[in-house]
Amino acid sequence: MNRFLLTSAFLVTVAPMALAAQPTQQPAGWPELPPKAPASNVKLVEPHLHVNRAGKGAPRIALTFDACMGKTDPRILSTLVDQHIPATIFVTARWLRTNPDSLAVFLAHPDLFELENHGQNHIPAVDVPTKVYGIPAAGSPQAVAQEVKGGADAMITAGIQQPHWFRGATAKYTPTAIMEIRGMGYRIAGYSVNGDSGSLLPAKMVEKQYASAKDGDVIISHINQPTHAAGEGVAASILALKAKGVQFVRLQDIPEKGDDGTTN
Ligand SMILES: [Zn+2]
Repeated sequence: MNRFLLTSAFLVTVAPMALAAQPTQQPAGWPELPPKAPASNVKLVEPHLHVNRAGKGAPRIALTFDACMGKTDPRILSTLVDQHIPATIFVTARWLRTNPDSLAVFLAHPDLFELENHGQNHIPAVDVPTKVYGIPAAGSPQAVAQEVKGGADAMITAGIQQPHWFRGATAKYTPTAIMEIRGMGYRIAGYSVNGDSGSLLPAKMVEKQYASAKDGDVIISHINQPTHAAGEGVAASILALKAKGVQFVRLQDIPEKGDDGTTN
């Protein structure tokens, strides 16, 4: 993780929490109450995921793309289709509603695309009240379950088969939410290389991130931001990895290892 990412993550997550943790003054004469746990005490994990290495020969890399909401980046989608690159796509119910044409492309290429669950409304799958990158979390175990189930229900309604992997919005969780989602029958998709940092990186930095990928890495990027420069970098990076002879795999094809109890 480079300095840019760490700095921006600090600004958006830690700074608001620090403000929220300011002690409030009790009115005089009120009984002494135990201090509220500050929001910064919420322990979030951002699990890693690797696929089994190829070892000798061509390095093996899993491309994963989040379709959070909004539109579809044709630069990335056409590169994947034209170059016959397999990938795993995490879709939300929100994205499915507004992208029927792109969904039809995914479904027309079952040899290339594995479709998995990114949730119903793109709400962080965190079971306590907090914010992640400024987005209010689900906030309770019930709301986490609804985010997961709502995503799967929308997929099945859209003609996609039952998903087996879940990746929550922001890819951050509490350990208890991880256990809950695992209990619903899912593996949880972390990653090992952040390809586009939420689609916010300039194209050249995206290319640097992709070029750093090694045998067994799982790259995360976004396929729902057609106006961002990052997508240009993603499309170029896919071609560059192919030129290096990389063997692209989907999560359903290869045994994997995730930390924080996210996989078997
Ligand atoms: Zn997302």
